Amino acid sequence: MKIDMLGTGAAMIDPDRAQSGILVTLDNGAKYMFDCGAGSVHNMVRANSSPAEVGVVFLTHLHHDHICDFPLFAINGWMYDRTDSPIVLGPKGTKHFCDHLFEGGAFDSDFRARSAFPRRQTNLAAVRPDIREVSPGLAYEDDDVRIYCDFVEHIPREISECFGIRMEAEGKVIAFSGDTSPCDNMVKLAKNADILFHECTFPESFIEFRSKSGTGTHAHTPPTALGKIAVDAGVKSLVATHFGHFESTNKSLQKAAEHHMPVEEMGPHVMDEVVQDIRRSYKGPLQMAYDLLRIDL
Ligand SMILES: [Zn+2]
Ligand SMILES: [Zn+2]
Repeated sequence: MKIDMLGTGAAMIDPDRAQSGILVTLDNGAKYMFDCGAGSVHNMVRANSSPAEVGVVFLTHLHHDHICDFPLFAINGWMYDRTDSPIVLGPKGTKHFCDHLFEGGAFDSDFRARSAFPRRQTNLAAVRPDIREVSPGLAYEDDDVRIYCDFVEHIPREISECFGIRMEAEGKVIAFSGDTSPCDNMVKLAKNADILFHECTFPESFIEFRSKSGTGTHAHTPPTALGKIAVDAGVKSLVATHFGHFESTNKSLQKAAEHHMPVEEMGPHVMDEVVQDIRRSYKGPLQMAYDLLRIDL
């Protein structure tokens, strides 16, 4: 299989990283997408895949940086001639989110205008997603894959459930954390995984500043803790992702970030600190994700 990193950034608009998105393509061509943040669908096409080819989308949670591109994914799937409904897996609230997008929803005018053409009426299923709100355990299976999920710890559950994922396919195991603070459920999901994609949003040196800022109180995983998670889970390789803009030198982004990050310390050098902190405990294969990183597994 191959895995394309479609987006490796976090919640702010970042000229160097799209928001969260991972595309898994099996050797038989079946495609599965984890998260659909802003920019991820553009990067999908850059990676020579199309929304019409993706059978299943798993939204780990309903923060905008994980779902923003879903309307674009569905409408362009329609325009790229997908014939069936995309299967959408996600937490409680996923149905509410999707039900308010297309017919009768935010994009109703687009739907009515575009569906006036006979050709577009032949595949309306593309914008009528098959939504399945999932619970911990086996979330999805077909002839090729099994996808398990469990709660991770990121947002209070009454606001949005947040899921981590374990996918088994072609005799391999892929795990993806979504967004989370360090938690046992993610270690279990990642147990002996061939590859773990885990969020690593803020470096250790930014966390104290952030804790005093009154912004971004949602929980994430510091690099030192990520190294321990990879060791505890016994993963064969680790990809850190969902980087919270700490390396950016973009002036607009830095201005917006000044209330919750030490702007004078931002820059590409911070990634070295992140690697060193992961390496305090984890010594195995490690990649720091970037957009359009392709991994063959
Ligand atoms: Zn996020
Ligand atoms: Zn989040």
